[in-house]
Amino acid sequence: MSETKNGIIGLDVFKPKEEMPQSVQYPRRMSRKVMVGNIPVGGGSPVSVQTMTKTKTADVKATVEQINRCVEAGADIVRVTVNNKDACDAIGEIVKQVNVPIVSDIHFNYTYALRAIEAGVAKVRINPGNIGSVDKIKKVLSAAKERGIPIRIGVNSGSLEKDILDKYGYPTDQALFESAMRHANIAADHNFDDVIISVKSTSVPLMISAYRLLAKETDFPLHLGVTEAGLITKGTIKSAIGIGTLLAEGIGDTIRVSLTDQPENEVEVGKEILKSLGLAQRTVEIIACPTCGRLDVDLFKIVGELEEKTKHIKKPVKVSILGCAVNGPGEAADADIGVAAAKGKGLLFKHGESIGYVNEEDIVERVYQEILAFEPKE
Ligand code: SF4
Repeated sequence: MSETKNGIIGLDVFKPKEEMPQSVQYPRRMSRKVMVGNIPVGGGSPVSVQTMTKTKTADVKATVEQINRCVEAGADIVRVTVNNKDACDAIGEIVKQVNVPIVSDIHFNYTYALRAIEAGVAKVRINPGNIGSVDKIKKVLSAAKERGIPIRIGVNSGSLEKDILDKYGYPTDQALFESAMRHANIAADHNFDDVIISVKSTSVPLMISAYRLLAKETDFPLHLGVTEAGLITKGTIKSAIGIGTLLAEGIGDTIRVSLTDQPENEVEVGKEILKSLGLAQRTVEIIACPTCGRLDVDLFKIVGELEEKTKHIKKPVKVSILGCAVNGPGEAADADIGVAAAKGKGLLFKHGESIGYVNEEDIVERVYQEILAFEPKE
């Protein structure tokens, strides 16, 4: 490991900040690019947000409805468990009915992976600690290669291979790394390059360290996550720290927040993590003040409605909604579209220039229309 001029963790593959597009605040580790359907992962592509359905996959209607809610919330990729024969029978119909790349999640039975690939999924996640022999993994790789779809090697601290656990005694960063590399090497032996890797743990320090090892040693695109992070408050904090720390070091190409909550909420949290780091290139970022005694409009309502109305928009627009003239114009100058509220109305800004007043009841719709029509300044 060598020192780099950005001084992060000595990865020679980082691009210096000055070479990155202006919207990316952090130097990114340059991983190889793979395609998950129409979504590029790695190679400097925007960091994508994914989630996983929680319905019974055999219930096509409920699963499709949940996927559509995730897409509405801004999911780029959605994973679906394929865990039994009924799920195998359903996955093809689900793929047909939705407009987002579907990843099949496979444990234990490699024939389910083969059936999911046949049914048209955009990626297969296989957990090497669970799937069985090298021969079975190779069969999956051949089928994926024929279809031109990637595989995610999904190593999890709760399902490491026995010999690796025996060697290290308990799940360590090296154990997660070794498991991932073992299966990546099987793929490489099979001339299979379209590999994404995850090394998840419920421990934030452990997953951070394991991903750093992978980032240092390989150029595989990395799928980041803190597994089983918990209910929404605790899970959001754990995920934001684990995923956010790595993203701030330039590590990570796609993310999944694992919450004991609805998948659309996982998407919302994932998008907020990206927005917080200036990495959201496909979402509307809304900045709002906390409000105080100066406030003369219902800002909670305005911001809530605007968040809801814009969450499906996959466009990088920064919007500031502030409660008064104290910070409103200043924040608006730094945003694409801004509002500084006054008594019963708001002064609207575009590219930092004021363009007139809007009545309080019209602020949401006017800002929404401005977002839809917004073009970045040349
Ligand atoms: S922008 Fe105005 S209303 Fe909002 S917190 Fe600041 S001073 Fe209060």
